[in-house]
Amino acid sequence: MIKRIMTDVDVKAGINLILKKIDETYANRSKEITSRKPLLVAVSKTKPAEMIIDAYSIGQRHFGENYVQELIEKGANEQILTQCPDICWHFIGHLQKNKINKVLNTPNLYMIETVDSQKIAESLNSAWERIQKENKQPLRVLVQVNTSGEEEKNGVTPSEAIGLYKHISENLKNLQVDGLMTIGKFGHDYATGPNPDFITLMECHRKVCEELKLDPSAVEVSMGMSDDFDKAIEMGSTIVRVGSSIFGHRAKKNA
Ligand SMILES: *Cc1c(COP(=O)(O)O)cnc(C)c1O
Repeated sequence: MIKRIMTDVDVKAGINLILKKIDETYANRSKEITSRKPLLVAVSKTKPAEMIIDAYSIGQRHFGENYVQELIEKGANEQILTQCPDICWHFIGHLQKNKINKVLNTPNLYMIETVDSQKIAESLNSAWERIQKENKQPLRVLVQVNTSGEEEKNGVTPSEAIGLYKHISENLKNLQVDGLMTIGKFGHDYATGPNPDFITLMECHRKVCEELKLDPSAVEVSMGMSDDFDKAIEMGSTIVRVGSSIFGHRAKKNA
């Protein structure tokens, strides 16, 4: 019974549909936006390993998880390890200091998208130094910005973003800060105009590039989910995080 419900969702068709929409939106957006074609991060939270393997089998490589325990389990999953050797995990959830070692020990961890304080950045920096003893590659991170100012959302304020970005890039040599990320307020009504959170993140992007003299096309912008990834691409997103449009709706997580 459970099996049947799961296979009702055609993951491969979902991936292909989203990739097609990314291509189309990218091709048709304003020529003033020059950022590269967005990367699709398939957000597989609450979904089983089989679905991840299915998506991987048609070429999807980047996957996002936002619960630490789930990332650890899926990262160490025998089937995923053998069938998805080049999988790239993005951690997109709230990171607490006492969970850092577990997250960083995940095989094939690609990026932490949710660095939201100097403290967490410093803990990541020193933990990565210990974990990556031989194969010294800096850990990719994004600075998470709370663009909507909602209390329940994590992230630095837009005005703090430059400072944290600068601190990481100048002082934390085990981290490679690749760009900015936001979740933003849910349910924006596009009939009223563009999404203010996307405007705010692009404004942060512009300021960071200006202040740190970075090439704007080399600084990532992670914004856009199932409901609005096309709108995000139109504004310059380079990483879209899409879950339910690929894997189907999620049951509410028990608190
Ligand atoms: C769950 C989640 C997503 C994907 O959301 P969908 O609406 O299912 O596409 C994207 N980003 C973050 C941080 C998430 O937690």
